[in-house]
Amino acid sequence: MICHIGETVSKKFKGLRCAYCAVREAVTGDHIFAREFFLPSARANLPKAPICAECNNEKSKLEHYLTTVLPFGGRHPDASENLASMVPKRLGRNVRLHRHLKEKQKVVFVPDKDGKLEDTIAIPFEGEKLERLFSMIARGLIWYHWHVYLEDGYEVQTRTVTALGLRHYDEVVSQERTRPSQPEPWQRRVRLRRCSGH
Ligand SMILES: [Zn+2]
Repeated sequence: MICHIGETVSKKFKGLRCAYCAVREAVTGDHIFAREFFLPSARANLPKAPICAECNNEKSKLEHYLTTVLPFGGRHPDASENLASMVPKRLGRNVRLHRHLKEKQKVVFVPDKDGKLEDTIAIPFEGEKLERLFSMIARGLIWYHWHVYLEDGYEVQTRTVTALGLRHYDEVVSQERTRPSQPEPWQRRVRLRRCSGH
């Protein structure tokens, strides 16, 4: 019966356009946030979007790397259980990544919440992979919530920021909110189109 349900779910997405490239035909449904980012008890009802074979291949590689490396820096209450219970198996399957992380790890000093320096272990991290995955996730969520495709002429830009950068960003956003509601040029350029078939 589980097999039957699986077939029904994949049929729901088959033949639709891929939410990620907005060009090729989808071959299956994709969990926009990979199930492996979550503990097995927290994987129910994750949103899905149609995905083509090429995007599925690229996204799977990004997810494989990031589900292995991100839990080392996780702050979510589930992060330490995720790190202890799931990451060792992933590292076991990827000997090259395991060796790379081990060889390049180093001790760094970072300020705690009171400003006191404490030592911690830092591992190398390919931030561009995180940015690329999040730009795909943004496209998947736009499709999931509004059935909209971002076609040629649109792009999603993602950036990682430091704590200082985040403070600056919050200040800019709060200033924008207090201004009169005249649309900014970038808002006027946004034009979203509904996809056919929904
Ligand atoms: Zn695609």
